[in-house]
Amino acid sequence: MQETKGLVFDVQSYSVHDGPGCRTVFFLMGCPLRCQWCANPEGWENRQRTMYRVSKCVCGKQGCSRCQGACPQEAITADTSQDTVTIDWNKCKNCTGMKCVDACLQEALAPCGKWYTVPDVFKVVNRDRQYWGREGGVTFSGGDPLTQHSFLTAVLKRCQEAYIHTTVETSGCFSEDIFMEVMKYVDFAFVDIKHMDENKHREQTGVGNQTILRNIGLLASKRWNGRLVIRIPIIPGYNDDDANITATAAYVNSLGLEEINILPFHRLGDSKWRQCGMVYPYSETEPVPEEKLRHIQQMIQRRGIICYVGHETPF
Ligand code: SF4
Ligand code: SF4
Repeated sequence: MQETKGLVFDVQSYSVHDGPGCRTVFFLMGCPLRCQWCANPEGWENRQRTMYRVSKCVCGKQGCSRCQGACPQEAITADTSQDTVTIDWNKCKNCTGMKCVDACLQEALAPCGKWYTVPDVFKVVNRDRQYWGREGGVTFSGGDPLTQHSFLTAVLKRCQEAYIHTTVETSGCFSEDIFMEVMKYVDFAFVDIKHMDENKHREQTGVGNQTILRNIGLLASKRWNGRLVIRIPIIPGYNDDDANITATAAYVNSLGLEEINILPFHRLGDSKWRQCGMVYPYSETEPVPEEKLRHIQQMIQRRGIICYVGHETPF
């Protein structure tokens, strides 16, 4: 029988913001959404890919063009006069070997996405476990970890057998069958509501919100025993107006849910968009002022919902 494998693009140990206690966080590749403010765009597609860091490239300084010759898709043009290489990302999508990464001696071209088996995950888990303390565990983020639901379920089952606390951070944009099957093995979930208006949701994420809202409703029903915290990324000029905040709080309230975590927009993903060959639409957007966050918090709390700002969520 073929071994279940998953593509992971990052692993962070000792995280204290992604669930109870000290945790190990696995970032799985693939996401059904394309949020235009995303901080991890390298995790959008469920496949290995190359990232290009111009700051490490010595194309102009030393006349290097090793990657251009190595690329079987002829996707790379090294322009030594411009001090940069240009990658045709449409051609690059067809690559299986990432020969450019091997050719680059400067690590300007770096691979993103490493295959893990369930035992591979547990090598990391067993290494980190001694540092978690009484309340720690494993968190699965992404991308959206449910994109690789077979692999994720296999890992979660193993965690459950080992009495390890599990958290997922998900968009919730999956079929009911997949969503509820995965959630059987999850103790704690952060699920996002990006916008209550279907069209506005589609405009900035590429998908509507109906599936997401239905799945949140399923978790809120008696069919699930874990703890659910709704997350709202606060994106200036998109979803931070009073009407949307009121509508979101009313919806959460109608389901009998009690906790919302608002996450202020930040620009930390900016350089990653460039490394993936994309233009970040929010590169000029200013962070959300503290007063605005506290105003949103008060609006939500007036509805009888506890609202945590940023990393304030208690576990
Ligand atoms: S990943 Fe493959 S196709 Fe893309 S630039 Fe590198 S060698 Fe070429
Ligand atoms: S091989 Fe690396 S350093 Fe050389 S041109 Fe390509 S990306 Fe730049």
